[in-house]
Amino acid sequence: MHANLQSKFSISYIAVIIAVLVLMNTYPLTVSEDLVFRSKETTLKSSVSVMASALTGLGELSEENVAPAMSGAEETGISRILVTDPAGRILYDTRETDSALGRYVFYTEIVEALRGNDVFNAAFSDGAFQSRCAAPVIYRSQTIGAVYAYEYDTEQASLLRSMQNTLLRISEAVLAIVIVLSLLLSRILTRRFGVLAGAIRQMREGDYGQRADVGGHDEIADIAGEFNSLADRLQSTEEARRRFVADASHELKTPLAGIRLLSDSILQTENMDASTVREFVGDIEQESERLSRITEDLLRLTKLDSGAVEPAEPVALSPIIERAVRMLRLVAEERGVELRCETERDGVVLAREDDLHQVVYNLTENGIKYNRPGGYVRVRLSGDENNCVITVEDNGIGIPDEDLPRIFDRFYRVDKMRSRAYGGTGLGLAIVSDTVRRRGGTVEAAAREGGGSVFTVSLPRLSTEGGGTA
Ligand code: ADP
Repeated sequence: MHANLQSKFSISYIAVIIAVLVLMNTYPLTVSEDLVFRSKETTLKSSVSVMASALTGLGELSEENVAPAMSGAEETGISRILVTDPAGRILYDTRETDSALGRYVFYTEIVEALRGNDVFNAAFSDGAFQSRCAAPVIYRSQTIGAVYAYEYDTEQASLLRSMQNTLLRISEAVLAIVIVLSLLLSRILTRRFGVLAGAIRQMREGDYGQRADVGGHDEIADIAGEFNSLADRLQSTEEARRRFVADASHELKTPLAGIRLLSDSILQTENMDASTVREFVGDIEQESERLSRITEDLLRLTKLDSGAVEPAEPVALSPIIERAVRMLRLVAEERGVELRCETERDGVVLAREDDLHQVVYNLTENGIKYNRPGGYVRVRLSGDENNCVITVEDNGIGIPDEDLPRIFDRFYRVDKMRSRAYGGTGLGLAIVSDTVRRRGGTVEAAAREGGGSVFTVSLPRLSTEGGGTA
C-alpha cells in the first residue's frame, strides 16, 4: 500500500510539472517565431514594393535598363533579388556566382506575381528563417515583370535557438529538482501514514499504550490526534476492565477460600461433634450467600456495562421508596436505627421499577449499616419542575472527605472489615451510580453537617402529577 501511495503521489507531481514544462518550451517559441515572421513580412514587402515602383517607370524591362535601376539593391541586405520579364526570364540577379541571368525561373512566388498578385512565404528550417516575397511590376495596367526577394536569416534564428536551448536547460534542471522533491515529499507524507498505520496495528495487537506522533498541523495530524484520543479512551476502558476483573476474582476468591477451609476442617477432623459441624455448615452457607450476592451484583453491573438499556416505563417514586423502607424496617429496628420516610413532592420518572427499587434499597441499607444504635436514616422525596430528588440522609459513622470521590468506584470500601461484616460487596454504590446515570440522572455523596452522610439522587421528572404536600 505504501509504495503504491508514494508512487501515485510522485507520478502525479511529475506529470503536472512535465505538462507545464512542455508548455513553457513550446508556447514562447511559437509566439516569437510568429513575431519574427511578421516583421520580416513588413520589411520584405515594403522593400519589394519600393523596387517594383522604381521599375514601373522603365515601361519595358530589359537586362540593360533594369541593372542601373536596381543599383541600390545590394545595400538592402536582402540575400537575393531577382527581376524577371513577363515570361519569367531573369533580367537581374544579385547573386554573382551561379547567377541565373537569362534563364527562366518558375518559383511559385514569381509565377503568382506575374499573375498580378503580391506574395509572401516564410518558413523556419535548417536553422534559418527563409522568407520569400514577390510583387508584379505594373506599367499602365500591364504586368511588365516581377521582383522577387529571398532572405536567408540565421541571426534571429540562432537567437531563437539559444533561447530554446536555455529553456530546455532550465526545464531539465526544474524536472530534476521536481523529481527529487516529489520523491522526498511523498516519502515524508507516506512515512507519516506509515507511523499512523503502525500505531493502529500495534493497538490491534493489544498494545493500548501506543500513540501516533506524526507531527505537523494538517489533516494527517488531525487523524492522528483523533486516533490518540481514541487510544486514550480505549486504554482507560481497558485498565478499568482489568482492574474490575482482578477485583472481582479477588472478591470471589475470599468466600471460596473460606468455604474450602471450613469443608476441609469438617472432612479432616474425625469425630467432630455435631454442634461444631452445624456451626461450620452455617458459616459455609453464609459464605455461599455472599458469593451469590457478589455474582448477582456483578451480573447487574455487566448488564449496565453492556449498554443494553432495558425499555423504560413511567414509574411513580413514592411507592418505591415506601416498599424499600418497609423491607428494611426490621433490619433498622434490629440495629437500633430509626427509619423515617417523607414525601414532599411525589413524581414520575422514566425508568424501570426494579432498578429504582435497587437504588433506594442500596442507599437506605447503607445508611442503616454504617450507623450507630440510636442513629437515624431519613429518606426524602422532593424536587422541582424538572427533576425528582431522592435524599437519603443518616447521622451514622460518615465518610471521610478523602474517600468521598471514590465512594462510587467498584469494590471501593472505606472500611473493608466493617463492610464484610455486614455482608457488603462493595458494588452497591457502583450499581446505584450506573443505574441513575443510565436514566439521565445524577447521584452525589456529601458529608452531613454534624456527622453522617447525605446521598442525593436526581432524576428527570416525567410529569408533575401526584405532587405531594410538604
Ligand atoms: P458495601 O457493599 O461495602 O456497602 P457500597 O458500594 O454500598 O458497598 O458502599 C461502598 C462503601 O462506602 C462502603 O463500604 C462504606 O465504606 C461506604 N459507605 C456507603 N454508604 C455509607 C454511609 N451511608 N455512611 C458511611 N459510609 C458509607
